[in-house]
Amino acid sequence: MDSPVPVLIVGGGPVGLALAGDLGWRGVRCLLIEQSDGSIYQPRQDLVGIRTMEFCRRWGLVAAVEAAPYPRDVRQDNVYVTSLAGYELGRERFPAMGDEKPPPVSPQKRERCPQNMFDPILRAFAASHPSVELRYRTRLVSLTQDADHVTAEVEDLATGRRYSIPARYLAGCDGARSLVRESLGIGMSGNPALTHTTNVIFRCPHLVSLHDKGDAYRFIILGPEGTWATIVAINGRDQWRFSIIRGPGQRELTMDEIHAAIWRAVGLDFDYEILTVLPWVRRELVADHYRNGRGFILGDAAHAMSPTGGFGMNTGIGDAVDLSWKLAAVLEGWAGPGLLDSFASERRPVGARNVAEASRNLARMLSPKPDATLLDDTPDGARARERLGREFSEIMRHEWFTLGMHLGYRYENSPICWADGTSAPPDDPRTCVPTARPGHRAPHVWLADGRSTLDLFGRAFTLLGLDADPSDAAPLLSAAGERKVPMQFVPLDEPDVLGLYQRKLVLVRPDGHVAWRDDRAPADPLALIDRIRGAAAVDRDSISARAAASA
Ligand SMILES: Cc1cc2nc3c(=O)[nH]c(=O)nc-3n(C[C@H](O)[C@H](O)[C@H](O)COP(=O)(O)OP(=O)(O)OC[C@H]3O[C@@H](n4cnc5c(N)ncnc54)[C@H](O)[C@@H]3O)c2cc1C
Repeated sequence: MDSPVPVLIVGGGPVGLALAGDLGWRGVRCLLIEQSDGSIYQPRQDLVGIRTMEFCRRWGLVAAVEAAPYPRDVRQDNVYVTSLAGYELGRERFPAMGDEKPPPVSPQKRERCPQNMFDPILRAFAASHPSVELRYRTRLVSLTQDADHVTAEVEDLATGRRYSIPARYLAGCDGARSLVRESLGIGMSGNPALTHTTNVIFRCPHLVSLHDKGDAYRFIILGPEGTWATIVAINGRDQWRFSIIRGPGQRELTMDEIHAAIWRAVGLDFDYEILTVLPWVRRELVADHYRNGRGFILGDAAHAMSPTGGFGMNTGIGDAVDLSWKLAAVLEGWAGPGLLDSFASERRPVGARNVAEASRNLARMLSPKPDATLLDDTPDGARARERLGREFSEIMRHEWFTLGMHLGYRYENSPICWADGTSAPPDDPRTCVPTARPGHRAPHVWLADGRSTLDLFGRAFTLLGLDADPSDAAPLLSAAGERKVPMQFVPLDEPDVLGLYQRKLVLVRPDGHVAWRDDRAPADPLALIDRIRGAAAVDRDSISARAAASA
């Protein structure tokens, strides 16, 4: 048997590539297998969320995303119309990507970078690390595991040769129909069919000149029956993704029906070229478990959600960042036996939260009731359009303003964080209340030298000393050294950071989440170190009691 690869990643979509990249960035050896050659048949994701952009900042990829061919001067409005050449019902205005500024809570902003542009960036990043091997045209065929190893049976699709890959750990990033998930015996719960949707990518360089609505990112098309289609500027230039939304259980559309639908959505007969057609089922599912033994699932393999909101890939990349440092810790020998289990206890609730919000967004988009007067050129028709436009514009803001979804998730009751007895700010999808409460993303503050606090976190644990006496940090650093936990001490004389972080000592994990904070050294530094490395038995009563005593 060949010597086992430390981590075998199955699937080279954005989540597998992000995991390979982050592991490589940490110097961990991994092998990624992907059945395709990496070409994107039809780009799905195009919103790279603000948290993902913060990870890109850590990985040095922001310039590459900004240099992607998606034009940065196309306005990103969402427009609600009866057709592109028909009535405009409402509009949410957004600047072009080149004009949008980061919000105060982050050094980054969300970006528009469709999958056929973003995957190659992640691929080049992963491939840039000598410890990462990417093996395309290689398919997982079956999978077994024992106490020490996982063994993947794979097929080289170029030659048909089958061979085995032994691995210490396996990460299933193989998408919604995950063979890894099935092989691990993990079920999914929820709704397997919310809608049947047909996505059509068509090329029409002069589409904007056919109507009076101007540049926009997305058109939502409403008819007398309610919302029935969307058109998205998928490359911002000449290609458009037209999605026809139909109820669950409805049959696939014929090409004649697709052409008729395109003409109806645009509002006139015009020339275009259909590039791809992809019927797909919109789901609302979360895996019952994220781990079985040495196998893990993440990304769409672990959660399948409606794209309404643009959470799918971004949630999956969050999974990858959470799992990566924990696998590194195990392979480097400083993790406790509970560290890998914390992946599921932290990420599954986030998956369930995001899946649920994506479905709420879908329900909002489909909420308009049938109205036979909508297209009438009469006072009744005008009133119907005005009312629908007003109500729809208001309700759709839930989907467009989602800072809280991307930045406000937290690992409440995480077995590897040390609660401090403070209460959590509301988990509001629309806004993010920055806090350094344990379990939350360590918040962004600009430092005097122009860096963000986020630039301080990453490879090791970071102990921030905020106007703290270095002797207070010493016991924790020494306990970390005793347990071989990599930890850097960063003293800062920055009142704004102390103002937001609220404690003089704040311990931030390699993934940028807060593990612990206090004004003094912990009474039992080894107990704290054992908790954050997953080596302590979880005793919630005593955590709460200690937190209450120190509050
Ligand atoms: C219309 C639409 C728009 C979307 N927009 C957004 C958006 O704006 N933002 C966002 O965050 N998300 C969006 N999503 C969701 C996003 O596309 C997915 O969440 C994301 O692609 C999931 O990434 P993944 O790597 O987990 O899985 P996938 O992208 O599905 O990748 C899985 C990979 O595994 C490979 N694979 C599968 N089985 C095997 C095997 N046996 N052996 C080897 N390889 C295998 C596949 O070939 C594939 O490359 C959208 C989805 C849709 C449908």
